[in-house]
Amino acid sequence: MIRIPRFLGLINAFLVDEDDGLTLIDTTANPGAAKAILAAAGKHGRPIVRIALTHAHQDHIGGLDALAAQLPGVEVLISARDAKLLAKDMTPEPGEPADAKFRGGYSGAKTQPTRLLEPGDRVGSLEVVAAPGHTPGQVAFMDTRDRTLIAADAFSTIGGVATSAKPNPRFPLPALATWHPPTALATARALRALDPARLAVGHGKTVENPGAAMDAAIAKAS
Ligand SMILES: [Zn+2]
Repeated sequence: MIRIPRFLGLINAFLVDEDDGLTLIDTTANPGAAKAILAAAGKHGRPIVRIALTHAHQDHIGGLDALAAQLPGVEVLISARDAKLLAKDMTPEPGEPADAKFRGGYSGAKTQPTRLLEPGDRVGSLEVVAAPGHTPGQVAFMDTRDRTLIAADAFSTIGGVATSAKPNPRFPLPALATWHPPTALATARALRALDPARLAVGHGKTVENPGAAMDAAIAKAS
């Protein structure tokens, strides 16, 4: 997995090697990111064959339209729930918590997904893991080869490992953009229970052997 940090390392995209090419996880915040992402793939010498989005926030989907325009035929994957948000349909779904609220930037994108993801699906070597709370349909990706967890914004690591259930004073943005904090806390616990070998996140550096740090983050938000 190759991390592509953008905006002084504040926002990440990732390239994941597969037999048929690269899976790009997220696109960072703006069309200008496309150039940097394509350059990273070029340096690695392999084509991006699919774009898998963890959730529909602007700082993860902002480069999507520019990338899709430059990658004809690329697959675009996002959860069925967040696909609605990508299309700027902000209607709540039956059964969602009454105290949930859309926060953070939802700019939408013109690009339409080619496949809608459900937890348990596979994207190459990655298993799709439910990670709701930050957004209603956020997903994480577990690499079944080495147990790297790409946790989206369920966790962040700027200013220390934190959940998005409660603002980390040193980097509060993921929590401030969270749709339903109690659901985000339940997700943090569920992801911790997967016992990842490595924690990769939307915001911050990748952490090796993250179990104890994830436990501490969960304790802080509980
Ligand atoms: Zn987010």
